[in-house]
Amino acid sequence: MQFNTAVLHAGKEGIEKHGATLPPVYQSSAFQQSSAEGLEKIFENKVPGYCYTRVGNPTVTAFENRITKLEGGIASVACASGMAAISNAFLNILQSGDEIVTSASLYGGTIDLFHDLEAFGIHTVFVENNNWKAFENAIHEHTRLIFAETIGNPGLDVTDIKGLSELAHAHDLPLIIDNTTATSYLIRPLELGADIVVNSSSKYINGNSSAISGILTDGGRYRWKKEKYPVLSDYLKYGPMAYIARMRAAVFRNMGACLAPQNAFLNLVGIETLGLRMERQCQNALGLASWIQENYPEVKVNFPGLRSSPWHEIAKRQLKYGYGAIFTMRVGSKEKAFALMNHLKLAMKVSNIGDTKTLVIHPSSTISLHSTARQKEEAGVYEDLIRVSVGIEDIRDLIEDFRQAMEKTKAFDTQST
Ligand SMILES: *Cc1c(COP(=O)(O)O)cnc(C)c1O
Repeated sequence: MQFNTAVLHAGKEGIEKHGATLPPVYQSSAFQQSSAEGLEKIFENKVPGYCYTRVGNPTVTAFENRITKLEGGIASVACASGMAAISNAFLNILQSGDEIVTSASLYGGTIDLFHDLEAFGIHTVFVENNNWKAFENAIHEHTRLIFAETIGNPGLDVTDIKGLSELAHAHDLPLIIDNTTATSYLIRPLELGADIVVNSSSKYINGNSSAISGILTDGGRYRWKKEKYPVLSDYLKYGPMAYIARMRAAVFRNMGACLAPQNAFLNLVGIETLGLRMERQCQNALGLASWIQENYPEVKVNFPGLRSSPWHEIAKRQLKYGYGAIFTMRVGSKEKAFALMNHLKLAMKVSNIGDTKTLVIHPSSTISLHSTARQKEEAGVYEDLIRVSVGIEDIRDLIEDFRQAMEKTKAFDTQST
């Protein structure tokens, strides 16, 4: 099935028995079985079935199956948020004393999470993205996984996933990729060698900001060894399903950050237009970023779709159909950044990405507030930087909004000097 067909039809088998064209919302905390033996078998994982929504729910399964198909994996686990999916993805394999090596260009929440993991004896080394020497030097005896974002948020560096997966596998390490900013419409990291993909489905997958959620998908190809990943010992008998089996039986189930059925349904409604939205959003981002760069050369526009981006070649090689729908602009000072944001009438000041509507934010004072000065610099966050998540509006209205705001910001500049 091609992408735009799969977003509508993949993974709905067995969910609906009356012909409904959308998966029904199984708004139930628990599910009865006809016999005590039946319930025992489900608890023993001997037969498929549902018992309790924290563990599994048919509407959530429908969402998981669709993402599994779109990302090209063997199974997915949906979680209460993107951060829950990332936490589960790590905690399923790590124990105290283990190390993570990650690209430094990351979403601020993920940087914060790595900090939180220090208290549990899990140490993270941050390195410059796509710098193979730096990655090699950071890998030690206790390294257990490599992590990066397909397109760093908000650094907008594009990870060479094939290169990074080859490096990871040369050291017998799994590569976990956060594909939130690109989505499976632009790239399928598992096909390029990544082992596990995580997505904050709160963003493009849901698409209209109606629910927070996250999901992780296993490619099923990494061979876990019990010496390196003792926490997986009991699950290695499941072969390629070892990672997901432990997730379902232990970490995901017991941490309890499950996805609500209603939110799985909202994602299933939203995802139907993922291809259409991404197509328009990528076009709009390229149009708006190019227009700003041409008309305001004093503004530094960063967008993988522009030839001026150091990541343009990797983006062109790796991403299908477009360059993503997020760009950043450096306008000269924090005051100017705030003035420009305040003058925008259409673009909303929102700490989110991937909405149908165009959103702007000043990362340094918001999503990266808890990062140190060094972490901010490594993640490409500057005092004068605005991040723009481009929506599906008519491009003429977007250009006009930025034009009038830029002109007013110029006036502000003259007044204040
Ligand atoms: C938003 C985001 C997350 C976190 O997802 P939530 O659903 O907000 O928990 C993780 N990674 C990236 C790249 C994001 O943009």
